[in-house]
Amino acid sequence: MIEVKNLQKIYQNGDVKVSALKNISLTIKEGEFVAIMGSSGSGKSTFMNILGCLDRLTSGEYLLDGIPIQERTEEELSEIRNLKIGFVFQSFNLIPRTTALKNVELPLLYARKKQNYRRKKAMELLEKVGLKDRIYHMPNEMSGGQRQRVAIARALANEPPLILADEPTGNLDSKSGEEVMEIFKKLNNEGVTIIIVTHELDIAQHCKRIVTFKDGNLIGDELVKNRL
Ligand code: ADP
Ligand code: ADP
Repeated sequence: MIEVKNLQKIYQNGDVKVSALKNISLTIKEGEFVAIMGSSGSGKSTFMNILGCLDRLTSGEYLLDGIPIQERTEEELSEIRNLKIGFVFQSFNLIPRTTALKNVELPLLYARKKQNYRRKKAMELLEKVGLKDRIYHMPNEMSGGQRQRVAIARALANEPPLILADEPTGNLDSKSGEEVMEIFKKLNNEGVTIIIVTHELDIAQHCKRIVTFKDGNLIGDELVKNRL
């Protein structure tokens, strides 16, 4: 599903160059569940932004389902994101003063789905993440764990084969974090490929594989042995 070859990313701010990713090669197959770890500044977010077709590589190659992403226009990238990728963020990024249901319906509206379908699909997804009795709650009426579950339901609206989550449990207490990981496991068992960034080994151990970055280099790539 994901093939990265000799990927380099250099940020240039005036005269200052930062080599954020140095020479990364990595393959992630359909159905994998990968944690990206590494200390602050190691290149994790840069890598996720490139995988998410939100930022461009400086050199090398990125194939997503065989599509050479570096050769695509901004418009094509936007379409690829909408079709293939669900995004989950540390800070949830829900629309305030808007019900859980409407938050989940939003990507379906952008995808020009009919109202009946939108409602039905959003209800189904909120039920799937355990929020059947919270569909008319606003984000500020929900706990962090509940908000993140709404965000996951929203990420799933257009049935993407790939979920990218940057520190999805970073703002949650450990119980809510575990609940979020249980949802990801369930989705992964249904065939969704999942890649998360995390600082916490306890969270990473719910995944099947841990990839570690340091100073823009890939320094570790291991299968999780005693998976939680
Ligand atoms: P992480 O997510 O692991 O904390 P990042 O990918 O955010 O790491 O950052 C990797 C390196 O690239 C860091 O040295 C960071 O300062 C630098 N960096 C990230 N974004 C930019 C940017 N927009 N402009 C310049 N340097 C950046
Ligand atoms: P969870 O079921 O995700 O474990 P909690 O036990 O943290 O949720 O919260 C129980 C209830 O308290 C939630 O259903 C929510 O309505 C309310 N609640 C919790 N945290 C907040 C918050 N920060 N703001 C508003 N309401 C909250």
